[in-house]
Amino acid sequence: MVQIGSRVLVQFGKKKYYTAIVESLHSTAPKGYEVKPIMALLDAIPVVRYPQLKLWHWIADYYLCTPGEVYKAAVPTGLKPESETFISINPDYEPDESSPFRMTERQALVLQLLQQKKRMRISEIEAATDYRNVTAIINPMLEIGMLEIDEKVVEHYKPKKISFVELTFPRGDNERLHECFSQIGRSRQQEKTLVAYLDLSGWMNQRGELRDVSKQQLLDTAGTTPGVLRALVDKGIFRVVKKTLNRFATDTEKHTRTLSTLSEAQSKVLSELKEGWQSHSIQLLHGVTGSGKTEIYTHLIDTVLRDGNQVLFLVPEISLTTQLSDRLRKVFGNKLLVYHSKFSDSERVDIWKRLLSTNEPLVVLGVRSSVFLPFARLGLVIVDEEHESSFKQYDPAPRYNARDAALVLAQMHGAKSLLGSATPSIETYYKASNGKYGLVTISERFEGATLPEVEIVDMAALRKKKEVKGILSSPLRRRILNAMENKKQAILFQNRRGFAPVVVCDQCGWSPKCRDCDVSLVYHKNLDLLRCHYCGFSQQLPKLCPACGQNSIRTFGYGTERIAEEMHKEFDGYRVARMDLDTTRNKEAYQEIIEEFARHETDILVGTQMVSKGLDFGDVTIVGVLNADTLLNFPDFRSNERAFNMLEQVAGRAGRRKEKGSVIIQTVNPAHEVLRYVKAHDYEGYYNNEISDRSRYAYPPFTKVIVIYMKNKDAVACDRAAVIFTMALRKVFGERVLGPEKPFVSRVATYYLQSIMLKVEAGASMKKVKELLRAVIASIASEPDIKSSVIYYDVDPV
Ligand code: ADP
Ligand code: ZN
Ligand code: ZN
Repeated sequence: MVQIGSRVLVQFGKKKYYTAIVESLHSTAPKGYEVKPIMALLDAIPVVRYPQLKLWHWIADYYLCTPGEVYKAAVPTGLKPESETFISINPDYEPDESSPFRMTERQALVLQLLQQKKRMRISEIEAATDYRNVTAIINPMLEIGMLEIDEKVVEHYKPKKISFVELTFPRGDNERLHECFSQIGRSRQQEKTLVAYLDLSGWMNQRGELRDVSKQQLLDTAGTTPGVLRALVDKGIFRVVKKTLNRFATDTEKHTRTLSTLSEAQSKVLSELKEGWQSHSIQLLHGVTGSGKTEIYTHLIDTVLRDGNQVLFLVPEISLTTQLSDRLRKVFGNKLLVYHSKFSDSERVDIWKRLLSTNEPLVVLGVRSSVFLPFARLGLVIVDEEHESSFKQYDPAPRYNARDAALVLAQMHGAKSLLGSATPSIETYYKASNGKYGLVTISERFEGATLPEVEIVDMAALRKKKEVKGILSSPLRRRILNAMENKKQAILFQNRRGFAPVVVCDQCGWSPKCRDCDVSLVYHKNLDLLRCHYCGFSQQLPKLCPACGQNSIRTFGYGTERIAEEMHKEFDGYRVARMDLDTTRNKEAYQEIIEEFARHETDILVGTQMVSKGLDFGDVTIVGVLNADTLLNFPDFRSNERAFNMLEQVAGRAGRRKEKGSVIIQTVNPAHEVLRYVKAHDYEGYYNNEISDRSRYAYPPFTKVIVIYMKNKDAVACDRAAVIFTMALRKVFGERVLGPEKPFVSRVATYYLQSIMLKVEAGASMKKVKELLRAVIASIASEPDIKSSVIYYDVDPV
C-alpha cells in the first residue's frame, strides 16, 4: 500500500523514470496539469517517517535550497532511490487485436533480446543494439503492457557478512565424530582445529545451545592456517557458511557501570533543568569545562529512556563520539547507537533501518547528519558544544546548522532540548538572557578541580631576549618539560596542518600557488608534496626555483606535522602523537590516537582544533597554544567569538582532575581584548563586550545575515554578475544589501567568487525572503553573466 514516506516510481517526460517519495495522500485532482501515474511501489514499508519530511521542508525553506538537496544529504547512499531501471517482458501480456500498435523492426529486436536475457538495463539494451533512443523505442511497448519495467534499487547496501564454520553433521552423532578423528589421522594441526571447534561451539555440552564459531575465531584459537581448515572442509568434516552479522544483536556487552552519583552542584543543575522545561522547551546549560556536563546529560538520557522515548545527542566532532561512546556504552549498553560520516554506508543504512523498524527507547550519539535519522519518538535532544561552527555544513547545500535543525526537529516531536557549552554562542546566550531559552549555570569543576592558569606569552618580546627557539618560547618549553618529568601529559594546539605553510624562494620571492585556487600551497613532508588545503590539488616541491632557477627554495612556518617532528626531537624519550585531518582519515585512526593518549601511552598530543573540543584526559597539566595570532586576526564579524571559544575550549583540556593545569598562549599581540577575557575565564565580560559591538554594527543576533555567493570560471563575468545581482537586490532590499566583495579566498577549484551580504531583520520570514530572492533572480535571469554563474546562499554563516 502506498503510504507517506514510501518510495514510488514515476515517469516524467518521455525518457526518465524517477523515484519519488510520497509526501502526502489526498484525493483532490490538481488543476492545470496532468497527473502522472505511479508505476511501481518500491518499498513494502516507508523508508522515511513523516516528521523527517517536515524537517526537510523546513531546512529547504530556511537555508534557501531545494528539498532535493536536503534529501540527498539526508539519506545514506545505500537507501538512495537512485535506482536503476530494468526492462523485462510482461509474462501476462495478451495482445489486443483492436490495438493500433504495430511492432517496428527495432522493437522486434529489443523483444528478441529480452527473450534471451530476461531482464536488461536500458543502458545494456543500448549497448547491445547500438540504438541511441531506446527509451523512445520501448515506450509504446510499455504503454500497451508488452514490456514492464521494474526499478531495482541497486544494492549499494551490503549487510555485513562473515564466515562461520560448522560441522557437516548434527550434534549427537558421535559415531560420525569418531570417524572424523580417524579421517584426520596424524595431522596435529587438523586435530587441534577440530578440538578447538568442539570447545568453542560447546558441542560436547549436550544441554547448552550450540554457539556460532566464526572462521577467524577458530583459526585464532587453534593457532592454525586457512589451509588446514580447507583440508578439513575437503574431507567433508566442516563446511563454511556466510551469515549476515546483525551488528546490533552481537552487542551483548553488559552494562558494567551504573549511573554515577552526581555532586551536589550537579544535582542542583539536574533539578533546575527538569523544572526549567516546564516553562521553556529549550534550555541552555552554561557550564565551565570539566564541570561534569556529560555526567548530567547521562542522567537526563537515562530518565528519557526509562520513559520509553528516544534521545538525539549531537556532538560537533567525530573525535568526541569516540570518547563519549565509550562513556555512554558503559551505562546504556546496546541502547546506544553511534552515527557519523566515517562509518561505511552499509553501517549507516543498518542504523537507519534499525531506527525505522522500532519505537524502542534508544540514544543516538552522532554528528551533524544524525538530525536526519528516522526517529520514532524523540523525547530529548542534546546539543553539546552548541557554539561549535562545525555544526554548520559549509559545502555543498544544504548549508544547514545542525544545532538549529535539531531544535526544530525536537519541536516537531514535542521533545525537550538542551544546549550545552562552556562558551555559548553569542546568539544562544542572547536568547537565554532574554528569556527565550531557559538558562542553567554551573561554574565549578567537578571535585573542586580549578580552572587552569592562563599565561599570555609575548613572542615578539621574548624573541628579542632570545627566549624563543623553534616554535617554543622558554616558558612553554619549561612547562612541558616539567609535565613530562612529573609523568603528566601535554596538548599542543596549532590550527594548521601539514609541515610548513610558507614556501618561498630566498632569491626572488617566488612562492607556489594552487593551480585552481587563490591560496598558497602547504608543504607536507611525509608525502613530500605541496598541497592545496582547499581543493586537494598537489604537486612536487620543485628542486630549483621555477622563476629564477636557483637552488634556493625554503620552507617556513609551522604546521602540526612539523611541530610533532620537532617535539619528538626536543623531548627525546617521550612519545608524541599528532591528531589532524591527515592522521585521522579513517575511524580506527581517531580511536587509536585518542585511546592511546587516554591510556597515557603517548605523552604529548599535537593537533588542530580536533584536540580542542570536549575531550576529557585526566593527566593533562599543560596546554600550549603555539600561535594564537591567526585566530585573532580574522577579518569578519565572528572573529572574536571564534577566537574566544577556541582558546577557552582548548584551555579547558588542562587540569581536569586534582592537579591544577596551566595554559600558555603564544602571541605577538598580547594586548588583544579576547586574550584578556580568556586569561580571566571571563565569559560574561567577553559576552557583554561582544554583544554591544554586534548591536552597534547591526550584526547577529540583531539581524539575520545571508551571504550570497556567485561562482564563475570567468573572473570578469563573475564581477559583472555580482554587480548586476547587487543592483537588482538593492531595488528590493535597499540598504540591507552590502557588497559585492571578493571573499577572503577569492578563487576555489577553478571558480572565481564574489559575495554579497544581505542583512535582514532578525525575525524576518525566510519563506518570504526566499520568494523575494526568487523574484529578483527571475528579473535578471536573461543576463548572460547571471546565466553563466552559479549562485548559492549561506544563511546564518558561522
Ligand atoms: P564537561 O563535559 O563539563 O567538560 P565532564 O562530564 O567530562 O565535564 O566531567 C569531567 C570529568 O569529571 C570526567 O572525567 C567525568 O567523568 C568526571 N566527573 C564529573 N562528574 C562526575 C560525577 N558526578 N561522578 C564521577 N565523575 C564525574
Ligand atoms: Zn627564485
Ligand atoms: Zn586548490
